[in-house]
Amino acid sequence: MALVIPGIHHLTSIAADPQRNVDFYTGVLGLRLVKVTVNFDLPDTYHLYYGDEVGTPGTILTIFPWSRVPRRRPGTGQVAVTAFAIPAASTGYWVDRLRRHGLAVARPAARGEEEVIPFTDHDGLQYELVARDDGPARAVWAGGPVPPEHAIRGFHGVTIWEAELEPTARLLTELLGFRLVGEARDRLRFVVGEGAARAVIDVVCPPGVAPGAEDVGTVHHIAWRTPDEAAQRAWRERLTAAGVPVTPVRDRQYFKSIYFREPGGVLFEIATDAPGFAIDEPVAALGTSLKLPPWYEPQRAEIERALPPLTPRARGG
Ligand code: ZN
Repeated sequence: MALVIPGIHHLTSIAADPQRNVDFYTGVLGLRLVKVTVNFDLPDTYHLYYGDEVGTPGTILTIFPWSRVPRRRPGTGQVAVTAFAIPAASTGYWVDRLRRHGLAVARPAARGEEEVIPFTDHDGLQYELVARDDGPARAVWAGGPVPPEHAIRGFHGVTIWEAELEPTARLLTELLGFRLVGEARDRLRFVVGEGAARAVIDVVCPPGVAPGAEDVGTVHHIAWRTPDEAAQRAWRERLTAAGVPVTPVRDRQYFKSIYFREPGGVLFEIATDAPGFAIDEPVAALGTSLKLPPWYEPQRAEIERALPPLTPRARGG
């Protein structure tokens, strides 16, 4: 079987207050909250999923709101910057919109051939909006505050911070099929996937940066797509054969997952496209009530008591 990664499946970051998170990601960025559930490994905390209308792989940003951990800047061995794609004609709209919501945003800057709008959210998570024309998106959410023609189109890619470039570069190209497309002294640029789903990964060695930890304001892990469970099993075999320790398959209800660390320490996941978020509520109702996997349903009353209150709509808009 030819094993290829078609792009990013989802990316998971650590935030503090869940309500403030919903207010920003739905109310300002215009993403749809497509699932409210709990962290399956820590069921007294939420797991929030945002995406396009249906949570198409490649558009899914997930958040662990862990208000009890400290807030810190990212370090090496972490995804430091998450980049979303926006239509090329929408840069002016987004600079205005982010400023109107009180974010400090500079004019779009050119980086190579890209036009980039950097910003940081209230928890310190670092983002970029990158102008990119891949044609119309399939499932832009029309029910949000951002007009569909300006809506975020999913992930453009990420910047990963490492202490060393070479070991990570070898894993990406030799084992995972990433293509090296650009090279400078302290950074390498890779691409994975084709067409609109392709993702750009910059691997950078920032001077004087210490290893990161799982704190508020950092990315917890990045998940790469795989079409189905057979391909996921093949990935597991390939990684194991190469001496990379990889977890057993975990049932994440909306997809199946395996996890491993790349040599620099970034937690990678390979997640299946199916079954997706409409498995336990209709598309029209995605993200409107707390969903639990069958194995936690008997403890629902207890779990609900432990969670802070959350209105699954942006306050004030
Ligand atoms: Zn994940």
